[in-house]
Amino acid sequence: MATVEHDLTHQQGNGAAPARGDIPVENPATGGIAGHVPDLDADAVAEMAARGRAAQPGWEAFGFDGRARVLLRAQKWLIDNSERVVRTIVSETGKTYEDAEFAEISYGAGAFGFWAKEAPNYLADERVKSSQILLKGKKLILRYRPLGLIGVIGPWNYPLVNSFGDCIPALAAGNSVILKPSEVTPLTSLLLAEGLRECGLPDGVCQVATGRGPTGAALIERVDMIMFTGSTATGRKVAAAAAERLIPCSLELGGKDPMIVLSDADLERAANLAVYYSMQNAGQTCISIERVYVEAPVYDEFVGKVTDKMRKLRVGAPNGPGSVDVGAITFPPQLDTIAAHVSDAVEKGARVLVGGKAVANVGGRFYEPTLLVDVDHTMKIMTEETFGPTLPIMKIADAEEGVRLANESPYGLGASVFTRDTERGEAIARRLEAGAANVNDAIVNYTALELPMGGAKASGLGSRHGAGGIRKYCSQQAIVITPRLALKREAHMFPYKARTTRLIARLFKLMYGRGARD
Ligand code: NDP
Repeated sequence: MATVEHDLTHQQGNGAAPARGDIPVENPATGGIAGHVPDLDADAVAEMAARGRAAQPGWEAFGFDGRARVLLRAQKWLIDNSERVVRTIVSETGKTYEDAEFAEISYGAGAFGFWAKEAPNYLADERVKSSQILLKGKKLILRYRPLGLIGVIGPWNYPLVNSFGDCIPALAAGNSVILKPSEVTPLTSLLLAEGLRECGLPDGVCQVATGRGPTGAALIERVDMIMFTGSTATGRKVAAAAAERLIPCSLELGGKDPMIVLSDADLERAANLAVYYSMQNAGQTCISIERVYVEAPVYDEFVGKVTDKMRKLRVGAPNGPGSVDVGAITFPPQLDTIAAHVSDAVEKGARVLVGGKAVANVGGRFYEPTLLVDVDHTMKIMTEETFGPTLPIMKIADAEEGVRLANESPYGLGASVFTRDTERGEAIARRLEAGAANVNDAIVNYTALELPMGGAKASGLGSRHGAGGIRKYCSQQAIVITPRLALKREAHMFPYKARTTRLIARLFKLMYGRGARD
């Protein structure tokens, strides 16, 4: 199989000097080399930060309209260049063309338009009224001001959505950005930064710092805010480093998303979605369905449907649209984690109905779509993030047991419940400890850029999307304007006089002392 060869070694960071040598980027579906990128050290990151800071005021001065023009050009650029971008994503992740096109291109194109349009609304000055007597007659304004230089650190599973995607609102707000993509999948970020420059983004406003963990750590030392997507373990380190510098951080971390299927659910739909949203992107999605709980009366029928559908999936190296359903395992150690979770489950009594092992005799890295039953919460496959094409299904007595087991997790990213009674479904969704809960669906909440997307518990801090998804890249400034014809001296000021103090105390009594105590 042919590999796509990229040499972006000298395209990063507008000329920052490479250090510590190059990182080879592997194509996980073929084992070939897709390109090389530099492994930047702390000095190179510091140089990039200086360039980013120098460029930021000019970018902020573009204003919302000027920035929107660049972002909308980028939207068109992405569609015009979508085949090239898809090829690049596929070459470094080994995912299918459809997983790249449906999830990544559609998200990126939508996000460029969304933030271009909504940034001025979410970040418009707000006129505020205060009941405080001291502020009568004054103009009160809440203003959102870009923080300056934002660091974005991303994972390998969706190089466009989860690495580059978080740069878009930061840029729309008027910040400069330095993106540190995963060392495993840096090529897409470099290509998109190149595209933005073609669309008129000034030099230094969006730079890509390729490298490994230490490059990410060096980035945190230089920026005004850090947006991190990755594992919970690394997220804790990022939060600690941000705390040392007293800079804000937003963390999008791991998950173990549960799906609850009640007896009255549309089983055909539930089975199709269970298979799709656990196997899409080979299960390497933070909000994949990772565990399913099915009410006893429909358990056998549901398992039968899922078994049939999963057996039909084609796994292997993608060589064009429609060629396979399930692509490669992108990150080498992930294959060991998946295999360890499956064997742990089997040792503790689980049965494998479909798949159950890595795909042998191919150049790339693949794991068979795997269905497990007779599982319980003593098994890692039900409690730890597997991040692979596995679907464990557990029988439950009723919805109460489903809710209890769904919430019995350190994670709280997404969750779903399937029932024809949508009112009951909503009531259950409200009890699920998850940043997003879907009724009769899964994952789609991510596409609603108007809704916050973020994790509860160990799945994160803060959120992307919605008003909070862009305001986090800004500081809030309170502006108070006293009119020209103000008093020369106000009543509460020096010199203190007993009569005035008594008057003010009486006023407080009048204002606040008339309510009941209980
Ligand atoms: P990691 O936490 O291993 O890495 C994430 C990024 O952090 C990478 O760019 C990595 O660099 C970098 N990094 C590593 N060490 C440090 C450090 N000390 N300081 C700063 N940066 C560092 O995550 P993965 O790449 O393995 O991604 C998979 C995880 O991401 C899963 O847990 C998944 O659930 C989660 N995820 C969460 C999402 C969400 O929205 N909540 C969305 C997508 C994924 P390098 O790769 O070069 O080592």
